[in-house]
Parts: sequence; C-alpha cells; structure tokens
Amino acid sequence: MNFSDFGKRFTRMTGTRELMDDLGEAMASDHPFLMLGGGNPSSIPAVEELIKKRLRVIAGDDGELRRTFGNYSPSHGDIRFRRALATLLRREFGWDIDARNVCLTVGSQGSFFSLFNLLAGSFGHEHKRILLPLTPEYIGYMDVGLVDDLFVAQRPSIEHLDNGMFKYHVDFEQLSVDESVGAICVSRPTNPTGNVLTDGEMRHLDQLARKANVPLIVDNAYGLPFPHIIFVEATPIWNDNIILCMSLSKLGLPGIRNGIVIANEEIVDAVASINAIVNLAVPSVGAGLLHEWVESGDIIRISHELITPHYRHKAELAVEWFQSELAGLDFHIHKPEGAMFLWLWFPSLRIGCDELYRRLKARDVLVISGHHFFGGLAEDWDHRHQCIRVTYSQDSDVVRRGIRIIAEEVKRAMEE
Ligand code: PLP
Repeated sequence: MNFSDFGKRFTRMTGTRELMDDLGEAMASDHPFLMLGGGNPSSIPAVEELIKKRLRVIAGDDGELRRTFGNYSPSHGDIRFRRALATLLRREFGWDIDARNVCLTVGSQGSFFSLFNLLAGSFGHEHKRILLPLTPEYIGYMDVGLVDDLFVAQRPSIEHLDNGMFKYHVDFEQLSVDESVGAICVSRPTNPTGNVLTDGEMRHLDQLARKANVPLIVDNAYGLPFPHIIFVEATPIWNDNIILCMSLSKLGLPGIRNGIVIANEEIVDAVASINAIVNLAVPSVGAGLLHEWVESGDIIRISHELITPHYRHKAELAVEWFQSELAGLDFHIHKPEGAMFLWLWFPSLRIGCDELYRRLKARDVLVISGHHFFGGLAEDWDHRHQCIRVTYSQDSDVVRRGIRIIAEEVKRAMEE
C-alpha cells in the first residue's frame, strides 16, 4: 500500500512499537516470557480491592454508571473531576489553579503527541524543537512528531556514587536554549533511569525556560501527589509557564487511558481542541472511577501508603539481586529514586545493548535496549550502546529469574 507521508511516518518500526509488540507477544504467548521490558505497573492487591469497591459503587448507582460509561465527556474532560483535581493540587501545593487549568487526555502518550506538535515542528519558515536537557529520556516521546527532527537532546554529567551506583545530572554548563527551541521537556521521575531531578535542577530549568520564553513540560507520570512512585524528597513545581503532565496509568490503571495536563488556559484549550478533533471525547472512565478518591484526598493516602512502599521494596530487591549476580563485573546501576525501572550500564559491553536485548529475548527475557532512549542526541556517544532498562514491577519470582538470566548473558558477552 502506498501510504501518505503521514502514513509512512506512523507505520514505520519504532522503539515504542517494538516495546508494545513485545509486551503483547509476551502476554499472548503460551510459554512464559519474563516481562522485564514494558512499563506495566504492578498488581497491588490492596489497591485492586479499592478499585473493585469503587466499581461496585458505580455498578449500583445509575447516575454514576451513566457518568462513567454512558456519556461522551466534553473535550476538556469531565468537569467534576477537573474541579476536584484542581482543588486537591491547590490545597496540597498552593498552586493557583482551577478547573480551567486542567485538561484530560487519552493517556499521557496522547498529551505528548498534542503538546510536542503544538510547540515544535514547522512555524512557517522556522523549525522548532523540543529540548530534552538530559538524555536518556522516555522512549515514548521519540516518534510522536508529525515532522522529522523534533528533538534536540543533551548528554548529562555523571556523578559516581558508592556501591557502583551513579546519577545523571543536567549539564547546565553546556545547556543552551536558543531560538530553535519551542519547549523544554523532562520526565521526573525519569523513565528509563529512575532518576529524580533535584529541586535545584528544576528551579534552574524553570528559570531558563522563562528567560527563553518557552514552556517547561514536566512529565509527572510517576510523581507527586499520585501515584507517588518516588523514593526521595522532591518538591513538585508548577507555574503558568510549566505544563505538568500526569497519568492514571501507574496507579495500576493503564487500561483506562487517562492522562492529565495542568497548564495555563491557552495550552489547556489547545489540547482540548486536539482532543475534540482526534478523539471526539476523552475517556470518562478514569474520572468516574477516581473522582471520589480525588475529592476526598484518598488518592494521596493510597499512593503514599500502598504504592510508594511497594515499589521502594521492589527497587531495593532488584538492586540487591543484580549486585549479587553481577559481582566482580564492570557494571553500574543508576540510583533508583523513583519510577519502576533499573538502568544498568555496562561500560565494557562490546556486543552493544541491542544485541544483548536480542540474546535475552531468545531466552524469553524481555528488557529494553538502552539505545532507544537517546533520541535527539546528535553525537554518537558510546554510552548509548552500553545500557539496558529493566522493569521490576512484575512478581518477585519473575524479576528474580529474569535478573539471573540477564547476569548469565552479560557475563557471556563480556567474555567474548
Ligand atoms: N511518561 C512516562 C515517563 C512513562 O513512563 C509513560 C508510560 O510508561 C508515559 C508517559 C505514558 O503513560 P500513559 O499510559 O498515560 O500514556
């Protein structure tokens, strides 16, 4: 089939497609893949019980049932939910927002498609890009552009810590926000590394963005106040130049496809317009299901008491297992400060991380090759071929077995 330019662009093989295909293949397969690849959240029984309770309430109340499943939402999303969320964020963080600053989307992935194409790409004779001030950065961003060359990215500085750990930092000395930048974007906590940019780094980025008169997009899919998959102290920031993107997925609900954009009214209205054209309406299931938790503030308690400790424990176990399995080898782990991934760096991996990914897949272990996370980086930095992302959200037994096999393959590769 001879597809249009749009068709060619959106049907080519991409890292995101490969990752979602792996996930689907693993779930459909008869033989057990060890899924350490995708970003599926854990199943946390105590949270699932609370979701079931909400579903029973909705099933028994005709008004709630219609609101949740039976009506199209407006293009900004359900007003009752938007009001409740704005009130919650104002109360928690003192942000000067109301429902007009909140727009729902079809998952954060949908938010990024709209935002990146609104703020970068072709502006008449000019071409603007999204600046990723710190790579590696989230794979899902890399292919959403309606035009080529949507990103420009920068290498981080690397801080070495105890026990073979390390942490990336924004290299502000090298960072320049010139005329060709349409917006700056960071994920915090960061997918793939589990990094949490420091409050100082966020303030600095905020200042740079204001000075250059471009928005700062902060991807808060794992952050505060929910789902709170963050293990260090961090202060969320928002002002009318910041576009904060949230998601209901990592609460354990990726199937309901609900993202949230918190921004000034102009941005919110622009995203709502795209919603109307591309999706007609945004899903109302998340708003119906979680409205009560947001209104009561329970969503904060649930996140803090049930979700944070769950992932913190899983991160600690995964680190411990890798450190014992890989003892004596040349490897580093990015300090896991949040999200649900370990980012492993093998400086002397000669075969490259894509080949390691393939060898692991052949042994039924799915991880993600690190090279996918360096979109927008012009230079060919060796580091991009030396890292893998390992998800630790699955059952401990799966993660444990997967780590053992990863260690075997890494050892074999290093002996070659
Ligand atoms: N942003 C980050 C950093 C993510 O890790 C993910 C999913 O893994 C998303 C956004 C996409 O989330 P959603 O399910 O809301 O589209």
